This record gives sequence, C-alpha cells and structure tokens, in this order.
Amino acid sequence: MINPFDDTYFMRKALQEAEAAFEKGEIPVGAVIVVEDRIIARTHNLTELLNDVTAHAEMQAITSAANFLGGKYLNKCSLYVTLEPCQMCAGALYWSQISKIVYGTSDDQRGFKTMGTQLHPKTEVIGGILAKEASALMKRFFIEKRNLN
Ligand SMILES: [Zn+2]
Repeated sequence: MINPFDDTYFMRKALQEAEAAFEKGEIPVGAVIVVEDRIIARTHNLTELLNDVTAHAEMQAITSAANFLGGKYLNKCSLYVTLEPCQMCAGALYWSQISKIVYGTSDDQRGFKTMGTQLHPKTEVIGGILAKEASALMKRFFIEKRNLN
C-alpha cells in the first residue's frame, strides 16, 4: 500500500502556510513539523507583523514543536519548509537535532548551503520538493510588491 503521507503531502501543507504569509504581506515562506505522519507545528514567516528579523517560519516551527512535545530536542521530527533555510534557521535546527529537513526551492543567495552553515551530522536533508510551486509564489510576491511601490 502506498503511504499517502509522503514528502510531497507535507510540503503541500507547508505551501498552504506560505500562502497564508502571502495574504498577510509577509515574504511567503511556510513550514510544518511532523512526527510519525502527524503535524505538530504549522507556521509561516511573520517578520513584518512581529517586527522581528528572527520570526522566520522555521524558528517559530521549532519553538512551537518543542512546546507541543514538552522537550527541546526534535530528533524524532521532520521539518518541511518551502524555502531552503537561511544560516540562522540552519543554526537553530542544528541545536534542535532535528531528524530530517525537507525544503522546496533553493536560496542561492542566503541559503545555508551557499553560506556553508553546518547542520547536525544526524540530520537528513532533502531539497527540491514542490520547488516550482514555492518559487512561483515567491516570484509572484516580489512582483506584486514592486508594483505597489
Ligand atoms: Zn531563516
């Protein structure tokens, strides 16, 4: 039997979060954290609303998941995020000891890979899941923003 709860399934949930960010005028990045096929955190970028450069989707997802679990380590969790994490988020994910990171589109300018940020050695990383969808949403956001200014 095929498990319907695959990486694409959870990335769609993260994309829904990114769309919610878009609606609020936030850079559209969404994230969910999953344990045993169950979503325990769903968040999106809120840097404008909170007036806080650290309010990236991943940072909030880490806090939310740790609160849910009642423990700070996420070593049984998978993170799905629509954009490749930046070095701040990669650093936080390192400390969380997260088991798996799945991201959508790459960020060749500010992504952790370009920045050379280390993840936890036990963290599995998969990129490019629904990358086209995530990238299209980002592009649409910046085009609309430009037209407003
Ligand atoms: Zn970040």
